[in-house]
Amino acid sequence: MNKKTVRDVDVTGKRVLVRVDFNVPIQDGEVTDDTRIRAALPTIQYLIEKGAKVILMSHLGRPKPENRDQFKMDPVAKRLSELLGRPVKKVDAVVGPEVEKAVAEMQPGDVLLLENTRFEPGERKNDPDLARKLAALADIYVNDAFGSAHRAHASTAGVKQVRPDLPAVAGFLMERELEMLGKVLSNPERPFVVVLGGAKISDKIGVLERLLGLADRVLIGGGMANTFLKAKGLEVGKSLVDEEALDEARRFLEEAGDKIVLPVDVVVADRFAADAEAQVVPVDRVPPDWMILDIGPKTVEQFAEILRQARTVFWNGPMGVFEFPRFAEGTFAIARVLAELEDAVTVVGGGDSAAAVQQAGLADKMTHVSTGGGAALEFLEGKELPGVAVLDPA
Ligand code: ADP
Ligand code: MG
Repeated sequence: MNKKTVRDVDVTGKRVLVRVDFNVPIQDGEVTDDTRIRAALPTIQYLIEKGAKVILMSHLGRPKPENRDQFKMDPVAKRLSELLGRPVKKVDAVVGPEVEKAVAEMQPGDVLLLENTRFEPGERKNDPDLARKLAALADIYVNDAFGSAHRAHASTAGVKQVRPDLPAVAGFLMERELEMLGKVLSNPERPFVVVLGGAKISDKIGVLERLLGLADRVLIGGGMANTFLKAKGLEVGKSLVDEEALDEARRFLEEAGDKIVLPVDVVVADRFAADAEAQVVPVDRVPPDWMILDIGPKTVEQFAEILRQARTVFWNGPMGVFEFPRFAEGTFAIARVLAELEDAVTVVGGGDSAAAVQQAGLADKMTHVSTGGGAALEFLEGKELPGVAVLDPA
């Protein structure tokens, strides 16, 4: 990786301002899924052990002035404190006198959590004033929030932009994400197979284009396959189709030839519901009143055969509506195939794809499950992420 990390700076006794991704689900004042908090622990623990004064900041949800209380960071501080086994002081502001006082009182090894950065209107606008106030709290800036690195906000990019002299380095999570996704982009071991699915193509055209150029095969399932099947002139009934992407899909099919592999059979449903009636049909036999909600068993077998030869696999987008158990089999079957690959690098990216792999209980069996949905896709598209761009070169 061509960026400095926390290992490259002397943090002892320093005020280290760390942008983490603590955007976790909260219900009745409790964190219901602490995966993202756990993902940030290696960096936080390292900084504590080195005797840094650890100042953490993150956004949480999309707070509005009317419903702010639901988005306070207190439940996160509580959970983090349990996971670290030490106190975490939480302040009720992002910047200002209360924060400055708390920072001034910190001892080496202390952990302080700032309030939700999005309580400050300047956060999303990347307001230089807010960025300057945040920068004033720090001797060193660390970005460990890969999942937010595609946004140029005050806490992800602004702090370094207004203070170019402030050392800015990657945390361990950021480092791992950049390394693993970087491996996919540059010199993947071949065969390199990409599996794409999910709901919309319009969001993913850039990634598809880029990956089509890099991969040996691109297996397409999920809602994305419907658009391709329709582009080929097949009846897809009431299936989810991205009408605006049909021309693009046709172009991809022409240019990519047999690099693109589409489903040969699908699971169709009579309506969009968990208890819908379901049947498996060949792709050219979709009844006009039905909709495709999963890939079929022959497709799974065909995809599996290709995947078993692969040395590098990148997967984004579920193969079907895995939220409904009846239509989850395609997605889980592909997850199992990836889990069983022994000599391949397997990287899963995308919010729902990561959730599916987690639900299947197979996340540990992948080489890497990215914590960043949008960020991972933009990175793979070849875009420079603002939160990465600001980090000091190694
Ligand atoms: P990710 O978050 O991994 O990038 P997306 O957000 O693009 O993935 O897509 C995930 C969603 O796609 C899931 O909610 C899933 O139900 C939906 N989906 C997958 N296949 C289909 C399908 N055939 N029809 C409708 N929705 C689908
Ligand atoms: Mg999603």
